[in-house]
Amino acid sequence: MNAKKLSKRLETVASFVPTGAILADIGSDHAYLPCYLVHKGIVRHAIAGEVVKGPYESAFRQVRTEGLQEQITVRMADGLAAVKLEDQVDTVTIAGMGGPLIVSILEKNPESLTNVTRLILQPNIHAKVIREWALRNGWAILDEVILEEDEKIYEVLVLQRGEMKLTGAEILLGQHLIAERSAIFVEKWTKEIANWQRVLASIENAEANPEIEGKRAELTYLIRLVQEALA
Ligand code: SAM
Repeated sequence: MNAKKLSKRLETVASFVPTGAILADIGSDHAYLPCYLVHKGIVRHAIAGEVVKGPYESAFRQVRTEGLQEQITVRMADGLAAVKLEDQVDTVTIAGMGGPLIVSILEKNPESLTNVTRLILQPNIHAKVIREWALRNGWAILDEVILEEDEKIYEVLVLQRGEMKLTGAEILLGQHLIAERSAIFVEKWTKEIANWQRVLASIENAEANPEIEGKRAELTYLIRLVQEALA
């Protein structure tokens, strides 16, 4: 992967960035995504935000190597603190982190989202918490993609402002992904059901107590929910 050829995962994220966008890529590491989008003429300007010194320096070097200092501002900052109102950022990408970390970044500086109309979020795990955050905060899911790369399965969620209603299954699995029911989606959730069934079997003979009973009920509920969505 480099600034001209992205991984399939980041290429999918890039495919949802609107032409003419002013982008903030939070947790940019090597800044490949903003560099790629500027090279393609898709974004007008980009902020590459990084909280860790090493990745910040590698983003800074990459932008200089590509000769894109005019179009990409690299900032060392925690999450959305990299975005200032005067930047007029309208699109935010956060990729390659767990869902809970992405949500904590969104919740820490909500004022940075004032002008933002699109969020493209790629959680490595626990996409559910992002859907819950969206429901609580007036964002609706415009699209979702599930993909496999290097034997790992990733989800990409595209959010725009608006209201939505989701069932329990849709919060966990994704409304668009349930409707599409791709082979990768079925593979992911079939494995998840098998994991839950293993855990359920392992506690089958455990002495009953409220904690064990709660775990049994939760796993039984999840297995049924996902089986129904896959049926
Ligand atoms: N976004 C790139 C990608 O998808 O390939 C890099 C992903 S890398 C696994 C996650 C990056 O997020 C790391 O460089 C890490 O330092 C950065 N990061 C984690 N928490 C952050 C935060 N609160 N603010 C900014 N960057 C953060």
